Amino acid sequence: MIRHAPHSRASLAERDAKDPLGAFRDEFILPQGVIYLDGNSLGAMPKAAMARSQELVTQEWGQDLITSWNRHGWFDLPTRLGDKLARLIGAQEGEVLVTDSTGINLYKLLSMALDLRPGRKVILMEGSNFPTDNYMAQGLARQLGRGYEVRFAERDDMAAQITPEVAVVALTQVHYKTGVMFDMEALTQMAHKAGALICWDLCHSAGALPVDLGAANADFAVGCSYKFLNGGPGAPAFLYVAKCHQGKAMQPLSGWWSHAAPFAFERDYRPADDIHQILSGTQPILSLAVMECGLDMMLRADMNAIRQKSMALGDIFIGLMEALCQQYGFTLASSKNANERGSQVSFTHAQGYAIMQALIDLGVIGDFRAPDILRFGLTPLYTRYVDMWDAVQAIKTVMDQNLWQDPRYARRAQVT
Ligand SMILES: *Cc1c(COP(=O)(O)O)cnc(C)c1O
Repeated sequence: MIRHAPHSRASLAERDAKDPLGAFRDEFILPQGVIYLDGNSLGAMPKAAMARSQELVTQEWGQDLITSWNRHGWFDLPTRLGDKLARLIGAQEGEVLVTDSTGINLYKLLSMALDLRPGRKVILMEGSNFPTDNYMAQGLARQLGRGYEVRFAERDDMAAQITPEVAVVALTQVHYKTGVMFDMEALTQMAHKAGALICWDLCHSAGALPVDLGAANADFAVGCSYKFLNGGPGAPAFLYVAKCHQGKAMQPLSGWWSHAAPFAFERDYRPADDIHQILSGTQPILSLAVMECGLDMMLRADMNAIRQKSMALGDIFIGLMEALCQQYGFTLASSKNANERGSQVSFTHAQGYAIMQALIDLGVIGDFRAPDILRFGLTPLYTRYVDMWDAVQAIKTVMDQNLWQDPRYARRAQVT
C-alpha cells in the first residue's frame, strides 16, 4: 500500500524560499543536475576556494616563494585556523590546531592521555567505530607493549566498560554509519568519575551540529575538515587539547614544529608548553590555506539554524521514504528521533551497493558503507528541501524500474 506523501514538492519549494540559510547555496560550486548527499564524506567546493587557490599558487608560492612563511603567515596557519575552528566546537583560543590527519592526531592525543594516566593501560573504544580510529589505537598499544591494550565495547555496554583500568575513552560522537549520537556531556562525566580521560572524534559533528567541548569538560578531541567543514579533499584535520592538559604530557611525533624554539635548531628535544607542542612538522600549506574558505563560511552561518534545518531535512527524507519506498525493503538504520541523529540518514538494504550506483547515475550522490548501508549526508548550507523530494523520487525510480539490476552496478569500485 502506498500512503499519501506527507509533503508535496511545491510545499518544500516554499520552504526553500523562506530558508534563512538559503543564500549560502550560491557560495558553492555544485554541478548541474546533481543532488549531492555526500557532504558527510567530501564537502562541496566553496566558490571562494577557486580564487584562494589561484592566489596561493600564483602569488604566494610563485612570486613570494619562501618569504611567504612570514609575509603570508604560512607558519601560523595551524594555530590561526585552529582559533577560528575553536568557535565552532566550544573551545578557547590556544586549544585547537588545524594540522595533519584525524588518525595521526588521534595517535598523538591518545599517547598523551596514556602519559597523563600512568598505571592505567586500557584505551576504551567503540568496536563499530570508523576503523582508522581503532587501527591507530591498536598501533599505539602495539608500539607501547608493556600490557597496553585497546578494549572494544558497543554503545549499550560502553558505560559499564569504563572500569578503573581505563586510561582514556575514545569515542566518535556521531556514528559514521548510522548517525546515532553519544551524549557527550554524560559520557565525559562518566569517564572522569572513573578517573579516565576522554577523547572525542568530531568528524561527523564539526560543522554539522552545535558542539561545546568546554561545557562538556572534554579533555581531547580530533576531527576532519573535509566533511561538513568543506575544507577540500584531504584537507588537514584538527585537534583539541584542553588548556588544563597542555604542557603536562609528551606526544610521540615530536618533530621540530613542536619544539619550544623550532628555529633555534637545538640538538635536543624540548617541547613547547602550549598547543604548539602537538604539531609535528611542515604542513601541506596549499590544502591548509584553502581549508579556511569553508571555515569562514561556516563561521558566518548560525549553527543552531544549521541544526534545525538538518533535523528537518532528515525528518522529511525519512517521511518520504516511508510513504513512497516502503515496499522495497529499506530499513532505517538511523534514529527516527532527530535529536538522536547527526546530519545524515542511513538505510540498510541487501542490494545497497548496486542501488547506490544506480542512484548516482541518476544524479543523486550518496555513498555505501559495507556490508549494507546506504548513507545520505544532509548539509544545510547547500542542500534544499526540494532535494529530499527529488532524491526519494529517484530512489523510487531505481527500485520501480529495477535499474539496480544492471550488472555494471554489481562491480565494486575501489572507493565506495
Ligand atoms: C572520516 C573519518 C576519519 C578519517 O580519518 P583520516 O585520518 O582523515 O583518514 C576518522 N574517523 C572518523 C570517525 C571518520 O568518520
